[in-house]
Amino acid sequence: MNSSIVYGPVPSRRLGRSLGINNIPPKICSYSCVYCQLGKTLSMEVEPRSFYKTTKIVEQAKTKLERAREQGEPVDYVTFVPDGEPTMDADLGREIEIVKTLGVRVAVITNGSLLWREDVRQNLLKADWVSLKVDAVSEGIWRRINKPHKSLELETIIPGILKFAETFEGELTTETMLVKGINDDLDEVNRIARFLAGLKLTKAYVAIPTRPPAERLEPATEQTINTVYQVFAERLRLVEYLIGYEGNAFACTGDVQEDLLSITAVHPMREEAVAEFLNKAGAGWETIQHLIEKRDLVEMEYHGKKFYMHKLPAHS
Ligand code: SF4
Repeated sequence: MNSSIVYGPVPSRRLGRSLGINNIPPKICSYSCVYCQLGKTLSMEVEPRSFYKTTKIVEQAKTKLERAREQGEPVDYVTFVPDGEPTMDADLGREIEIVKTLGVRVAVITNGSLLWREDVRQNLLKADWVSLKVDAVSEGIWRRINKPHKSLELETIIPGILKFAETFEGELTTETMLVKGINDDLDEVNRIARFLAGLKLTKAYVAIPTRPPAERLEPATEQTINTVYQVFAERLRLVEYLIGYEGNAFACTGDVQEDLLSITAVHPMREEAVAEFLNKAGAGWETIQHLIEKRDLVEMEYHGKKFYMHKLPAHS
């Protein structure tokens, strides 16, 4: 196969400028998530194996990195984010090791379903940054949302994730994709938050499907997303949205409206924080009214307090 395994660099909210490595052919995965943007899984597998030659992956990464550097384009991470589950690649550890010698940090976005395996944990421990999928911690909900391979058991996966989190020395993040009517129930959200609290996370991301999903579904509403954010934030140090905007909480363009939308695309803002922001910028509350009328901003309540969030992108 001569198609490119390495692509980018592309801008990534979580990783800055990222060079992507597609180390799994489409679409081999241990899950067939209802919201998967790659469509239904073509081959459900759980046994890691070799797909591409390590030298081929590394050569392509090296060439792309050199080209990016020549063009003055910074690359913050090389990210294993394939058309399937990256830990299905038995050579992942070796690939990470060699890519790191090129002088870049390596990230892996995984569903975490194979972390009960020692070999998979050993491979993943070599990364600098890992994102684990945690959409559910209850068996029935997990089966509905992630549609796992028939041999997988949540009661094996959860201890595997915990074991990995204990030994991983890089930055560990999670991604929880919320789907209306499946995993957005408050009891499950509380259970997920309790589980995440035991993982020593750098950050937990709350996401919604923003690209056409494999199956018909509705993403969670702004109100639900805010509730989940608040429940997570009560237990976790850092929580952010991943809702389809390249928001940057630190961006300060000097344009009050744009800055407000940028911040509220990453996390909700309390009424007092908004007031303080407007005050500093010399703007009035009519700015908020205007953004709400334009349907760019949504006002919500949680425990009697008002919060503001960027309106979700239109769902296709
Ligand atoms: S784990 Fe990722 S690649 Fe696999 S089905 Fe789910 S979203 Fe798609």
